[in-house]
Amino acid sequence: MKTVVTSSPIEAADFIQNGGTVAFPTETVYGLGANVFDATAVAKIFEAKQRPADNPLIAHVANLAQIRELASEVNENARNFIDALFPGPLTLVLPKSDRVPLIATAGLYTIGVRMPRHELAQRFLEACGVPVVAPSANLSGRPSPTTWQAVLEDLDGRIDCILEGEATEIGLESTVVDCSSSVPMLLRQGAISLEELQAVIPETVLYQATDGEAVRSPGLKHKHYSPRASILLVEPGSEISDPRNSAYLGLGRPDGDFKKALLCTSIEIYAHVVFEFFRECDRESIDAIYCEIVPESGIGAALMDRLRRAAER
Ligand code: AMP
Ligand code: MG
Repeated sequence: MKTVVTSSPIEAADFIQNGGTVAFPTETVYGLGANVFDATAVAKIFEAKQRPADNPLIAHVANLAQIRELASEVNENARNFIDALFPGPLTLVLPKSDRVPLIATAGLYTIGVRMPRHELAQRFLEACGVPVVAPSANLSGRPSPTTWQAVLEDLDGRIDCILEGEATEIGLESTVVDCSSSVPMLLRQGAISLEELQAVIPETVLYQATDGEAVRSPGLKHKHYSPRASILLVEPGSEISDPRNSAYLGLGRPDGDFKKALLCTSIEIYAHVVFEFFRECDRESIDAIYCEIVPESGIGAALMDRLRRAAER
């Protein structure tokens, strides 16, 4: 299959309407989309990404009316989050409507719903005319793509179209909150922090899987965000004994002669560059990437979550 790269949201939406797959930019990362109501089209996402069938997808909407097509019920907590934080980098897990095929939710009776605030994403979603399910547009397990070139690197010839936009602003995936029961539960950290959620609904809690319990968000158990290089987490100012074919990413200047180093002036910039830095290191066949630990407040919590998962082997 030939992958068309276009900057026209109308041309890209045409592929969605014809049952195809389209990668598109959002404020978080690039997503790989298909018409949520077309089970055959949704299957193409799993195939292209080599994504495990038990990892659910997030549905992206252009407007509030489309949330009603996806969810059988929008409770008061969900309505409050929507009023306060939509559009933005927040996914709400809601009970799914009968129209949503089970392949999109990996067999769950809930669906993740998000309204991006990214202007090109909004124009694309409006032109599609249907909600678009989209996980990150990378091969499963690889770092999420924050540029259209990173999408092409993983998925050229495997998807119908890439909607070309700028590098994504935030660089980490959306915050996921389960609103399907009475107490909202933060399942995945993102740019919207626990503190911001609690400012809307004070009862919101951080979900922590306990041993033996079925994982509430199946995607959390899969290997994630990993470059080929190994990731090592280090305290600021740590001395690294043999940095020869290694890279350093963090806020402070490292002690040692690294092949490659990127110093970020803020945690937001660290989050914005981390996945592309991982990919660059792979292109340069670097063996190890030392990543500086950051304080876990604001987007620092989401960044540390991704770094820890990337460091798991
Ligand atoms: P991705 O967009 O590739 O980061 O994948 C979407 C992630 O959102 C999944 O891996 C899950 O962690 C989460 N997610 C999506 N839908 C649901 C759902 N219905 N229930 C719980 N978590 C979900
Ligand atoms: Mg992903």
